[in-house]
Amino acid sequence: MAAYTWIDHTFDVVVVGAGGSGLRSALGCAQAGLKTACITKVFPTRSHTVAAQGGISAALGNMGEDKWQWHMFDTVKGSDWLGDQDAIEYLTRNAPAAVYELEHWGVPFSRTEDGKIYQRAFGGMTRNYGEAPVQRTCAAADRTGHAMLHTMYGQSLRHSVDFFIEYFALDLIMDNGVCRGVTAWKLDDGTLHRFRAQTVVLATGGYGRAYLSCTSAHTCTGDGGAMVLRAGLPLQDMEFVQFHPTGIFPAGCLITEGARGEGGYLTNANGERFMERYAPTVKDLAPRDMVSRAMTLEIREGRGVGPNKDHIFLHLDHLDPKVLHQRLPGISESAKIFAGVDVTRQPIPVLPTVHYNMGGIPTNYHGEVLTKAGADPDSVVPGLMAVGEAACVSVHGANRLGSNSLIDLVVFGRAVGLRCGEMLKAGASQPTFAANAGDEHLARFDKFRNAKGATPTAKLRDKMQRAMQDTCAVYRTGPVLAEGVQRMAQVWAEAPDVAVTDRSMIWNTDLVETMEFDNLMAQAIVTVNGAANRTESRGAHAREDFPERDDAHWMKHTLAWLDAASGAVRIDYRPVHSNTMTNEVEPIPPKKRVY
Ligand SMILES: Cc1cc2nc3c(=O)[nH]c(=O)nc-3n(C[C@H](O)[C@H](O)[C@H](O)COP(=O)(O)OP(=O)(O)OC[C@H]3O[C@@H](n4cnc5c(N)ncnc54)[C@H](O)[C@@H]3O)c2cc1C
Repeated sequence: MAAYTWIDHTFDVVVVGAGGSGLRSALGCAQAGLKTACITKVFPTRSHTVAAQGGISAALGNMGEDKWQWHMFDTVKGSDWLGDQDAIEYLTRNAPAAVYELEHWGVPFSRTEDGKIYQRAFGGMTRNYGEAPVQRTCAAADRTGHAMLHTMYGQSLRHSVDFFIEYFALDLIMDNGVCRGVTAWKLDDGTLHRFRAQTVVLATGGYGRAYLSCTSAHTCTGDGGAMVLRAGLPLQDMEFVQFHPTGIFPAGCLITEGARGEGGYLTNANGERFMERYAPTVKDLAPRDMVSRAMTLEIREGRGVGPNKDHIFLHLDHLDPKVLHQRLPGISESAKIFAGVDVTRQPIPVLPTVHYNMGGIPTNYHGEVLTKAGADPDSVVPGLMAVGEAACVSVHGANRLGSNSLIDLVVFGRAVGLRCGEMLKAGASQPTFAANAGDEHLARFDKFRNAKGATPTAKLRDKMQRAMQDTCAVYRTGPVLAEGVQRMAQVWAEAPDVAVTDRSMIWNTDLVETMEFDNLMAQAIVTVNGAANRTESRGAHAREDFPERDDAHWMKHTLAWLDAASGAVRIDYRPVHSNTMTNEVEPIPPKKRVY
């Protein structure tokens, strides 16, 4: 690889990603006195976290009694008993402190009359173990992620995190099972970089763009997950993909669940509030997997709205325009732009749309990446951590509750900072890189840069996205999933024929998109294979041919490895942690989910 040269850097910690989870991790590491770099392919405040609308959950009890134990119960139940209960205890216990920390850093939360942080109702969040909806989701109008991201970026600068902005991370530098660093391509001048670190933290977000219609940004291509697969490590529970009930039809952009939290409701072609039939206690505030299934059934049974009876209405027109203006200004604007609807007078056309990846890089609740080594299912990969949507802690299990992601970002971002502070010594000496460290990364980079095939990346990507949307959506069946596995294998086989036309090193978006497509492909294949393999229904994974949850055989995490040469997927399992973290709460025994 004589044509390329590396620029080398050394840090104690390198965080890849500057969304909510990356910024909180980097900030924590810097506060612990560690020399910390944060690499990001987009400007930090353009990370997808900026689009988060509805809010961040924590049992503050500002709007009526609340307890973290209730939040824990809701999260375990919401996860359909696939979440690890020790991690869920860690999350819900630490949530209030994490929100107050954000407040003290300057997040401009909406306020109650008496000046406390405003909280709204969200799906699956209840009081007293499922009795009735509770207001637990802290909000800054409908721009909560925006407020958090800007505040944390400011705080990270204050604590001297070293930012490497518009650097595209390529791959992990692994040395006998230990992660020693990461390589990156600087997009604006074409230079190539090797970052050496005691610990690399992957905070690269989800891979929603594996599907045709999703609420996530075009940058959500799961690059970190793909790096982990290429390093020969597994991803966990990838078959669990969340469809958000209210993507605007047909554009797919999001109307926050906070809209229903403020009193919005769904209707079918008969004008019926059908959620009352599916979830009599919490109705429109049922968890997302249930609402998305109910909407799909209504449409299938001929009760969809519109000329083609292919979507559902979301009503906000009964709400006080002042409330809409104050609490939901952003989505009022989105509805106008993307559906031409005035929310004060007309219902919004909506359809379930891909929104969140419950699966990801397996970690424990300190953020340390896990793999199954021999008989040990919880074996730590030295030098590697993961956090945020890229990770699978697993607190969301088979279905994430709305507003539980933003809290996951900051609670586990904080945990990463604490763990690095405990385990690492600032400035400790690090082994020098082997002479050929990163050569394989360059070979992959060079292969794509000079790809002379006949099929444009956009065409391959479209095939992948359609295959995923057609075969691995809200409802799934064996034969259709088998077709999905086969269609994805075909795209994999066609991918070497990719055409890249721009050969330059500077602002080569053609090449960026091609590497992102390659990253998406790896995860899409693992997702559809995992879905075909899991013969039960749990959370977001609803199999029509196996409609029941099967705890005896399937209360376990899927681990999936990808063979980079053949595209073959190997599957194994890890037990779910049904134990709690401390003796102060009892484990929550599995039950049928009724709302
Ligand atoms: C429209 C929308 C609304 C949402 N609303 C809510 C909500 O109200 N409440 C809630 O709890 N959750 C919400 N979610 C979910 C939540 O916002 C996301 O799960 C969360 O923000 C993800 O944060 P993250 O830090 O993991 O990743 P992101 O915010 O996606 O950041 C990823 C970072 O990784 C960097 N990166 C990725 N690949 C590379 C690479 N190869 N090289 C260098 N850098 C790289 C990117 O530059 C970026 O900085 C919403 C999601 C969407 C899409």
